[in-house]
Amino acid sequence: MDMLINGEHVSDMDREDVINPYTGEVIDSVPIAHLNNVDKVIKAANDAKESLQEMSAFKISNKLFAVCEKLKENKDEFSQLLTEEVGKPISESYVELDRSIETLKLAAEEAKRIYGESVPLDAGLNGKGFFAFTQKLPLGVVAAITPFNYPLNLTIHKIAPAIAAKNTVIIKPPTDAPLTVMKFAELVNEEFPAGVINTITGYGSEVGDALVASDDVDKISFTGSVTTGLMIAQRAGMKKVTLELGGNDPLIVLDDADVDAAVKGVINGAYLNAGQVCMGVKRIIIQEGIYNEFKAKLVEETSKIKMGDPTRKDTQLGTLISQKAAKQVEEAVNNAVDDGAEILIGGKRDGAFFEATVVDNVTPDMDLVVRETFGPIAPLIKVKTIDEAIQIANDTEYGLQAGIFTENYRNALRCANEIEAGTVFVNKQSTFRTDNMPFGGFKNSGSGKEGIKYAVEEMTKTKLIGLNLR
Ligand code: NAP
Repeated sequence: MDMLINGEHVSDMDREDVINPYTGEVIDSVPIAHLNNVDKVIKAANDAKESLQEMSAFKISNKLFAVCEKLKENKDEFSQLLTEEVGKPISESYVELDRSIETLKLAAEEAKRIYGESVPLDAGLNGKGFFAFTQKLPLGVVAAITPFNYPLNLTIHKIAPAIAAKNTVIIKPPTDAPLTVMKFAELVNEEFPAGVINTITGYGSEVGDALVASDDVDKISFTGSVTTGLMIAQRAGMKKVTLELGGNDPLIVLDDADVDAAVKGVINGAYLNAGQVCMGVKRIIIQEGIYNEFKAKLVEETSKIKMGDPTRKDTQLGTLISQKAAKQVEEAVNNAVDDGAEILIGGKRDGAFFEATVVDNVTPDMDLVVRETFGPIAPLIKVKTIDEAIQIANDTEYGLQAGIFTENYRNALRCANEIEAGTVFVNKQSTFRTDNMPFGGFKNSGSGKEGIKYAVEEMTKTKLIGLNLR
């Protein structure tokens, strides 16, 4: 697939293969852009600003709805491509498509709701006699830099609110899984003037870095690892930056929990997308009274997980993004075993596959739970008290989402109040998200929020106009 710059396909350079992690076959290739392409794409996005900003909110909304319809019409094709490039089960790709369609719809609606407010300057010293109001204005050019795990929906979470707020967009998709996003950009390009949406492929450390450092890009909207996020924060200068970074989300199961519901929460939260989820359940903190019952039921349910060909409808666990990624997970699990942990089920790698794995006797200081392990792993940590559970849940550099299972409202509210995370769910695991809710972590999990309304807020600037009426 080719890059899209100013409505034209650009391909005249070296290319990088895109590999299907399940079959190992090359499914396509994309250009490896150089710095002169970065200059061109930034110019195209800047040149297109006027054409977008002249468009009425009514028209932009309708066009976003039209893109949404096109995505719906092509849902099967997009789902298949997503499974081919990421290795995720086809059922999960369909869910990502449904969510992408929903995210677009939310942005099309939000495009009509971007307004300021009147401001009573007379509430301040010497402010009497003014009529003042604010306007929400576009920032200009938004660069969207996105990761491999949910490439389509996470990119739409940036593109759609950016365009709704009249910003032009440059997308730098992940090198491992760029195709679905590039194909989607073509749909957007059919509806909007040339240059409103552009794609540039190539290595993050070169192309991504040049976008981040440019004075002609007004906003970086990034989703990815903490390491890259920190680099971006340091390189971005005065431009606005939103960082949606990694997570190490806890799931607390207290003695009074509905154990079956909690087990289901782990099955849905730890193995989803082969564990490659920022808000995946990565640490399971269980009170000792129900520990054995919970453990036995979790092992039993884990044994039913169907791993295999991601294109089959009944597959629940596909591959990781690459063999290299699966080897990293294998190493993390083996190190934990060397340190005294015990594998109850799973633990084996086959190429880019890694089995759904329950690890017992995990202590909070093991790398397996100190670092973000991006694989289908359920590490179990036993605690005596609710205080201990909260202390361990918070003892991390991350703070994305969290889940607590309890039938006691006092315990629920206490955990919800004391856990340091952007979202805390009671009787639901951390992988739950609706695309309209404010989403974004505390601590090293990032800064700023997404969720269409909140993303629009971060993609506009506020101007105050005050009329002195005296
Ligand atoms: P990553 O390595 O940080 O890559 C993310 C994107 O950044 C890719 O497009 C990458 O390009 C680009 N990039 C790399 N170096 C860069 C640089 N120096 N300057 C600018 N861009 C650069 O992350 P990943 O491995 O793809 O994704 C996994 C991580 O994302 C996990 O930590 C996960 O928790 C996090 N994540 C967070 C959320 C959230 O919403 N909070 C959602 C999903 C994932 P290349 O592909 O070319 O290297």
